[in-house]
Amino acid sequence: MESFTKSVNFFGNTNPDELLKEYGSPLYVYNESVLRDRMTKMTKVVTKYPFTANFSVKANTNPSILKMALECGMNADAMSPGEILTLEKAGFPREKIFFVPNNVSAEELQFAIDRNIITSLDSLSQLELFGKLNKGGRCAVRLNPGVGAGHHEKVVTAGKNTKFGIAEGDIDQIFEVASKYDLHIVGINQHVGSLYMTAEPFLKATKALLGFAEKFTELEFIDFGGGFGIPYHKLADEQAFDVEACREQLEAIIDEYAKGHDKTPLFKSEPGRFVCAEGGVLLGQVYSKKHNAEKAYVGTDIGMNVLVRPSMYDSWHDIEVYRNGDVVSPLTSEKETVSVTGNICESGDLICKERELPVIEEGDVICVLDAGAYGYSMCSNYNSRLRPAEVMVMADGSTKLIRRRDTYEDLLGRF
Ligand SMILES: *Cc1c(COP(=O)(O)O)cnc(C)c1O
Repeated sequence: MESFTKSVNFFGNTNPDELLKEYGSPLYVYNESVLRDRMTKMTKVVTKYPFTANFSVKANTNPSILKMALECGMNADAMSPGEILTLEKAGFPREKIFFVPNNVSAEELQFAIDRNIITSLDSLSQLELFGKLNKGGRCAVRLNPGVGAGHHEKVVTAGKNTKFGIAEGDIDQIFEVASKYDLHIVGINQHVGSLYMTAEPFLKATKALLGFAEKFTELEFIDFGGGFGIPYHKLADEQAFDVEACREQLEAIIDEYAKGHDKTPLFKSEPGRFVCAEGGVLLGQVYSKKHNAEKAYVGTDIGMNVLVRPSMYDSWHDIEVYRNGDVVSPLTSEKETVSVTGNICESGDLICKERELPVIEEGDVICVLDAGAYGYSMCSNYNSRLRPAEVMVMADGSTKLIRRRDTYEDLLGRF
């Protein structure tokens, strides 16, 4: 693919140069049409049975994007009281919020109990704590299906090497704790990990989870978790995760489970990345070029404080180069192997390492693709840098500021 942003008219009636002039650099830019398309796809992971997709909002907590998810028929997963408050601000009713924390305090559990928000407990000790706080209450438990998956060991969240979930061998103890406090376990959930491109690990874990489900007698929902991948190598024509093929296989697995039950519980999933990654890009400016020991570096204002994924997980993000408002074609332009770096004092401050890109010049705009998930939500003020603004390109091509850039008052006002 020559240019993803061109192929979907990502910038609507404007272009990267104009956007940076108006809103400053660096800048997160989202596209409403792409976001809504992915949101709608995720509400159809299962169509044959009652199903709800919960947006895992840690991927992106901008209220404008949360509102869109709500309009597209999604519920939401929150990991913390802060995320619950953000969801409430975006208009989510409490019954559409599922609290899936781990290692939280009594105060944090009480916060959800007071709001009547269903909570999933991630360990026997947290279940015990919940029982003490909310005798006779309703809750869910997060199980470890024994199968994990993901793009990096740091994002595999099930299997043998993870802090998450209650292991199969401990399931019987769940019922002991539940009976001690009269708890009703109305839901079970899993999350195998993040960014699988084929459905196999997810389906294998789901089979295991549905097997465990037989032990629970009060289930109102079974939640299969998130992790659906997106094509980070789209410029090399990597194909998207096949939601329809996944649906067919998943529904076949559910059919087996449903045979033994008069009524199926509500099925759920918890996608984060799939919902918003491709609907967001990160723009930044090129300020310098140099060679060090024969290696070429392009210096930009996209520091690891703005996008941490490449330095944290060695993640790949495709890069498009824009010049004078138009994309520099990777098909016809001259090429150079360069590392694109940010402005933070760390050697790991890289967006890409030794990659062949169109020859970049000072003044060009770097457009980092697939930055809508775990981009802004993982931003920091490291090096006392300001977090960028976020803008939305609406379906009609117009542009709207959806979060202002940090100011120096924001930075200094806490002391
Ligand atoms: C992060 C997370 C998700 C979402 O993962 P994605 O890979 O972004 O889809 C879902 N469920 C839980 C419990 C999570 O921690």
